[in-house]
Amino acid sequence: MSLPPVITTEEERDKLFNGKGHTGLSNLGNTCFMNTILQCLSKTYELTEFMLCAEESGDHDKKYLKELVRKGVKITERGRMFDCKPLERLQKKLVMDYEKLLYAIYDVPEGALLAPRTIHNDLCGQDPRNPSLGMAMGRIEFIGYGQKDAEEFYGFLMEQMHMGLSHNVNISIDGEPLCLYDKMAIEAIKSWKGYFSTEYSKILELFYGQEYSLLICPECGFQSGTYQPMNRIHLPLPKDTRRANLNDCFELYNEGETLDEKNAWRCEGCNKNVKAQKCISIWKKPRHMVLHLKRFTKDGRKINTLVDFPLENLCIDDYCIGYGANGVKYDLYAIANHSGDTGGGHYYAYCKDYDGYWREYNDKMVRLIGSETTDIKSQLITNSAYLLFYKCRD
Ligand SMILES: [Zn+2]
Repeated sequence: MSLPPVITTEEERDKLFNGKGHTGLSNLGNTCFMNTILQCLSKTYELTEFMLCAEESGDHDKKYLKELVRKGVKITERGRMFDCKPLERLQKKLVMDYEKLLYAIYDVPEGALLAPRTIHNDLCGQDPRNPSLGMAMGRIEFIGYGQKDAEEFYGFLMEQMHMGLSHNVNISIDGEPLCLYDKMAIEAIKSWKGYFSTEYSKILELFYGQEYSLLICPECGFQSGTYQPMNRIHLPLPKDTRRANLNDCFELYNEGETLDEKNAWRCEGCNKNVKAQKCISIWKKPRHMVLHLKRFTKDGRKINTLVDFPLENLCIDDYCIGYGANGVKYDLYAIANHSGDTGGGHYYAYCKDYDGYWREYNDKMVRLIGSETTDIKSQLITNSAYLLFYKCRD
């Protein structure tokens, strides 16, 4: 096996990615949900590069391996042994299997077909002698070969990869708060630290942001804010309309909801259990932002509203607070689509490849979308769009 590449210039990056990665994934039963997410993720070039490439330092170790071994590893004569709990070992195996899949995706000749069996086994396997992460984490909804929700699967995969790559980090908080936003920033960092001080990872760096949710008491007006880490943004769809745009969805997201009796909140202002209003904003924008169009309702229906979304220059500042509203723009690079109805249907991906062309990745089938004469936008924006993968502009 050849040494992992070191990338320091755009030409080297070009050589690794340009014209490559047009690889279909075979369906192992009902695994189009997994293939779709893996294809979208494989076009996250910052992560792919981190997984496949080595540092410049000269020891030819891949960047991700260096991170992987920072916690719970023993080097023996036979190579690396993960000296950690079984769960962590499973999470590290998932990361290594993801690297193997990426290596194959970017290395096989055009038209080749891969079967991502190991990833499926790592997450969804049902053999009690060889427990999967679905079994170890008690996430029974992921076990077996049935159809799964691609959005939930994405979340599960991200959490487990994050844990597999995680290690300790010191986050220090310096400086005196000067204004309200400074105070909020310190609260936000404290919360982030509370979640992640022992578990920092590349996944966190690339995919996680922070939401600020504000509970407001309808009786006395008392407010209480909290910060939560997130790796995707859940956008409600407007009701009773056939067409909407992303701004409509983000406005509903900001508006939030009135909590019901089951979720009553004990207000510290008036000491009553109240049906609080919960408003959500984005505090820390993720570098790669995954938007989840909430097409599936709690009562099992699917909303087929066509949501218009920009391919380039998406600005979400209106829905952020504090330092999050900083003018950063996002470009779309992948779409996970769902066609058909609740409880079944079919998933497929539209991905923007390194060559700038959009392709459909539909299990084993890969095809170019559009040509110079067709309107690419109208082909990408359909009422099947379910997850949108955006990357911030540098
Ligand atoms: Zn109150």
